[in-house]
Amino acid sequence: MRTVQGALVERMRAALPLLLADIEALVTCESPSSDLAAVSASADRVADLGTERLGVAPERIVLEGRSHLRWRLGSARSRVLLVAHHDTVWPLGSLGTHPFDITDGVLRGPGCFDMKAGLVLALHAVAALPDPSGVTILVTGDEELGSPSSRELIETEARGCDAALVLEASADGGALKTARKGVSLYEVQLVGRAAHAGLEPQRGISASVEAAHQILAVCGLGDAARGTTVTPTLLSAGTTTNTVPAVGRFAVDVRVPDAAEQDRVDRAMHALRPVLTGAEVIVTGGPNRPPMEPFASRSLYLLACALSESLGLPVPQSAAVGGASDGNFTAGVGTPTLDGLGAVGGGAHADHEHVLVDPLPARTALLAALITELLGMPGAARSGATNTAGASGADRP
Ligand SMILES: [Zn+2]
Repeated sequence: MRTVQGALVERMRAALPLLLADIEALVTCESPSSDLAAVSASADRVADLGTERLGVAPERIVLEGRSHLRWRLGSARSRVLLVAHHDTVWPLGSLGTHPFDITDGVLRGPGCFDMKAGLVLALHAVAALPDPSGVTILVTGDEELGSPSSRELIETEARGCDAALVLEASADGGALKTARKGVSLYEVQLVGRAAHAGLEPQRGISASVEAAHQILAVCGLGDAARGTTVTPTLLSAGTTTNTVPAVGRFAVDVRVPDAAEQDRVDRAMHALRPVLTGAEVIVTGGPNRPPMEPFASRSLYLLACALSESLGLPVPQSAAVGGASDGNFTAGVGTPTLDGLGAVGGGAHADHEHVLVDPLPARTALLAALITELLGMPGAARSGATNTAGASGADRP
C-alpha cells in the first residue's frame, strides 16, 4: 500500500511541468466574474484543457448568461463531487500589472491561488485515477459573486453525493478548511421626516439620528465569545447639509459559527424597533449562506490526515475560517464537505496573491488518494458526519 501510494506522489512530481503549464493556460485567460464574455472564453479554455486531461468533454451549463462546466464521469451514480470555480476577482487587464510568472518556486498571476491552481490540481488528480467512475467535477463561473446562478446547481449535485471536496485555496501553511462561518446580509432603512435644519429642525425626525441608535443596537448583537460578528458597513442618509434627513439606510454583514446563531441574529434583526417617536425602521435581507459546521468535515478531515500519513506527507492542519465558499452550500444540504484542498500559498484577492510550487504534487496526490478511498467505501463519509447533518441549516434562502 505504502509503495503504491508513495509511487503516486512520485508520479505527480514527474507531472509537475505539465501541471504548471496547465495553470499558466488558465491564469493567462482572464475571467472576472461580472464579465460574461470573459467568463465564457475562460470556460472554453477550461473545457479544452479538461477534455485533454480527462479524455471526455464537459457539459456546458449556461445560467443567467454565466458559464459553468460539469463532468459526470462514468455511468455509475455520482458519489464524489469536486467543486471548483474558474472566475476570479481580477478585472480584465490585470495580467498587465500582475503577469503570470514563476520565480524561485513561487507562481504568480491573477487568480492563481483563488483558485485556478486548485482547479488544475483537481483535473490532474482525477486524470490519475484508474477509474474515475462516480466522480463529478463542477466548475462554476460566478463563485466570487456569491454564486447567484450556480447555487442551485451546486446544491443539487451535492445532495446526491457521499462527499464534496472543495478546491478552494488552503488556509495558512496548507491547512484544510474544516469550518466556515455562515453569512447573513441585511439592509436597515430608516424613515423619518424632513425639515429645514435652520428654520424648524424640531419638526423633523432625523433618519441619521435613528440610524445612530440602530447601528449601536445592531453592534450589540455580536457575540465575540461564540465567534458571531455583526458589522454595520455601508451607510448613507439625507439629501443636503441643511435638511433634517428624511431617509437613511445602512448595510449589515453577519458571520456566524452555527445555524442557531444565524437564527438568533436573524430574529433580533427583524425585531429592531425605532427609538425616535414617529420614525420607522424597515429591515430586509436574511441568511445568505449557511455555516459549514465542523461536523460536516470531521470524517473527511480525519481521512485526509490518515492518507497523508500513508503517502509519507506531513499531516495537514485544520482551520476554521470566516470567509464563505461554495462549501457552505454543499455542507448546507447535509453533504460531508472538506474545503481548502487547493493550492498552498497566500494573498487571495490581493496584490501578493501567489502559489507555492513545491507542495503542488503532494496536494494532487492527496486529492487523488482521497477520491480513490471515498469511491471504495460506500457512504463512509456521510455516515461519519453524524445525523445532525440534516439540521445544519439546509435550504436557507
Ligand atoms: Zn475562490
